[in-house]
Amino acid sequence: MVPFDYLRAGSIEEALAHMGRPGLCVLAGGTTLVDLMKLGVETPTTVLDITALELDEVTVEDGRLRIGALANQTDVARHPLVRCHAMAVSEALLSGASGQIRNVATIGGNLLQRTRCTYFRGADWRCNKRSPGAGCDAIDGVNGAHAVLGVSRACNAVHASDLAVALLALDAHVHIRSLRGTRRLPFADFYQTPGETPQREHVLAADELITHVDLPAGGTTSASGLPTSERVSGYLKLRGRASYEFATASVAASLSREGHRIGDVAIALGGVGTVPWRIPAAESILRGQVPTPALLERFCDALLASACPTSQNAHKLDMARGAVRRLLEMLH
Ligand SMILES: Cc1cc2nc3c(=O)[nH]c(=O)nc-3n(C[C@H](O)[C@H](O)[C@H](O)COP(=O)(O)OP(=O)(O)OC[C@H]3O[C@@H](n4cnc5c(N)ncnc54)[C@H](O)[C@@H]3O)c2cc1C
Repeated sequence: MVPFDYLRAGSIEEALAHMGRPGLCVLAGGTTLVDLMKLGVETPTTVLDITALELDEVTVEDGRLRIGALANQTDVARHPLVRCHAMAVSEALLSGASGQIRNVATIGGNLLQRTRCTYFRGADWRCNKRSPGAGCDAIDGVNGAHAVLGVSRACNAVHASDLAVALLALDAHVHIRSLRGTRRLPFADFYQTPGETPQREHVLAADELITHVDLPAGGTTSASGLPTSERVSGYLKLRGRASYEFATASVAASLSREGHRIGDVAIALGGVGTVPWRIPAAESILRGQVPTPALLERFCDALLASACPTSQNAHKLDMARGAVRRLLEMLH
């Protein structure tokens, strides 16, 4: 590991005053950052510990569920308000990593985790994300776990977060703060596909801190905190073993039911894209319809229309279709 300076911020203002300095990296739970520092993939000269900041609350305010960026994944997954208003978030978090990791890993850190592509994590390989312009050994390499959607000739590394898939299907927003002010971004605008610049994974600037995410609470909330609408959500993850494994393909869905028909619906895929994958226009195929196998196939055709599988990862497309069918059966 390359030597670095360590700073600990006592307040958001203090953290923001340091952020944006060249070579500075924020430390939350450290489960991604420290790993990558040991591998020599991340080489910050200063590490800014933000764990003392009061950003770990989960609340419902003005009809929106708000989850602090420093809340740990175990607390969020088990929180009654999250299970009540955003079951997909709870299920996505519980499907990830291990109990020990979830106890320290945070919401903000999960959204900013780097890809698990072995070529990115192994310094002996060429990787445009790690060393812009170096080339990509994954595209013609061992790429069974790589992305089939949102890929470019420069990069096909898969986006690893389960949580991000749930947040995309739940129409979440990301709240960001810097000394320049605050901004609130639709989650759909947060990540960037690799194109020619795979090193740029999202639109967060170096001086910006994620403070929280929020999403619509499940309709009108009763005094007990329970949602009164019919909206349900869930997350289903397919992977090589039943726990402690990243998704081969996953799906998050949020929907309301109108009798046997689907009402409003949003569906996002994980494990298959360079970013969490959603095509809102495709969802109109499902609205107001009874979800027959033929209809779901039509929806999946539209959702996966731009897929570019390589020699080893076409199975992800069948797995994504199966995951969509199964989750909708479970939720509807
Ligand atoms: C063995 C293993 C298995 C895993 N399996 C899964 C899995 O199945 N599914 C899954 O989704 N994830 C999985 N993960 C990833 C894990 O969820 C992430 O490592 C974790 O969420 C990162 O959170 P952290 O708080 O530790 O982040 P850190 O490592 O502290 O930070 C990660 C990045 O985010 C930045 N950052 C953190 N917080 C903020 C903030 N508030 N504002 C701005 N920047 C910030 C840091 O600077 C850093 O670049 C796994 C990790 C490991 C080690």
